[in-house]
Amino acid sequence: MEYSEIMVRYGELSTKGKNKKDFIKQLGHNVRKALSKFDDLDISAQHDRLHVTLNGADSTAVMARLKGVFGIENFSPSVKVEKDITAVKAAAIAMLKENYQPGMTFKINTRRQDKEFPYDTYQLNELLGDTLLDAFPDLVVKMKHPDLELRVEVRVNGVFLSGQTIHGAGGLPVGTGGKAVMMLSGGIDSPVASYYALRRGVKIDMVHFFSPPYTSEQALAKAKELTARLAGYSGGIQFIQVPFTKIQETIKEQVPEGYLMTVQRRLMLRLTAAIAEKRHAKGIFNGESLGQVASQTLESMAAINDVTSMPILRPLLSMDKTEIIKVAKDIDTYDLSILPYEDCCTIFTPPAPKTHPDLEKSRRFESFIDVEGLMKEALDGITVTEIRPGDNYLNQDEDVFAELL
Ligand code: ATP
Ligand code: MG
Repeated sequence: MEYSEIMVRYGELSTKGKNKKDFIKQLGHNVRKALSKFDDLDISAQHDRLHVTLNGADSTAVMARLKGVFGIENFSPSVKVEKDITAVKAAAIAMLKENYQPGMTFKINTRRQDKEFPYDTYQLNELLGDTLLDAFPDLVVKMKHPDLELRVEVRVNGVFLSGQTIHGAGGLPVGTGGKAVMMLSGGIDSPVASYYALRRGVKIDMVHFFSPPYTSEQALAKAKELTARLAGYSGGIQFIQVPFTKIQETIKEQVPEGYLMTVQRRLMLRLTAAIAEKRHAKGIFNGESLGQVASQTLESMAAINDVTSMPILRPLLSMDKTEIIKVAKDIDTYDLSILPYEDCCTIFTPPAPKTHPDLEKSRRFESFIDVEGLMKEALDGITVTEIRPGDNYLNQDEDVFAELL
């Protein structure tokens, strides 16, 4: 069926009162950005709906993009006909034919914005219901949970019919929740945490620590490629890579083994907080989940958090690994995350890091190194990349995938 427009319904933001205007404006902006590769669309964000007029564009491709935009509750591909009852009846029959199954249940749901139209919603429901029952005598009318709900909207510029309601991504439009930085490794967890941050409307910049030559170019490329997948949800993400080799080598030399991990993490967080402040970000997200590994106990979090007063947000805190993996698969980051490239943290982590580090000792051992000098050097060595949805960084050599099969 050739659709004329995609009718987009808002989610939570319809209840947001005074912020509603900003939300709609941001969503309109995000939808335009997500659909920028289509030339002929008309996009208009109104107070209760957003309309994407297709002007001949491929509706399936447009809907695939819309699926990734947060703030959309659901959407319906719609056909526009003239405000003429014969045309409306014909379109209703065509739409039913498209979805027909023997003995199916249906209902007509009419909305009328244009009060000049000679039939009211009650009359239209009756009239179109009868038309369909005449054309398909085995249909059954059902008000609750019918197989097909045919929505009919009488607007000033025409009558719009749709037979399908497709779930959107939910959440809030990215940008309405302020800005934060995300600590992104190449693992399974932090990409999922990024997804949850974006879903609550928070715009994120990625901070990634890498340690050449201990970590490879491919490990770095993997983190960028993960960012490119996540950028599909926000239009674009800045990727900040921070050189971490010298800090790790110095810590390894000067800090007692049991505290290597804790002190490393404190430095990571110090650097992340410095970056966040400089960029006017208001919080730091990470992929920690309570009890998952040594650095993710309450004592450990306390010993690491100590270096900043900025909020540290952990969307995965109480999720089980199996749940996290399921989301990673759903959002399409899992296959990348399990590629076997080394991470800077694991390389310098001793076999038995302290799971319950002492705060005072953490502070003292950290003071063995030149925190300020090392931080300055790392911050001076930062590189920022603007990453767009679907950008390619990993020349996925087929052998890597073959190994995984
Ligand atoms: P992930 O799957 O996200 O790597 P993890 O279970 O491996 O998490 P850790 O290695 O302890 O757990 O890392 C905890 C969190 O610290 C990560 O989720 C991420 O937010 C942050 N982190 C770890 N390594 C890096 C890195 N190289 N660059 C930036 N952040 C990192
Ligand atoms: Mg990791």
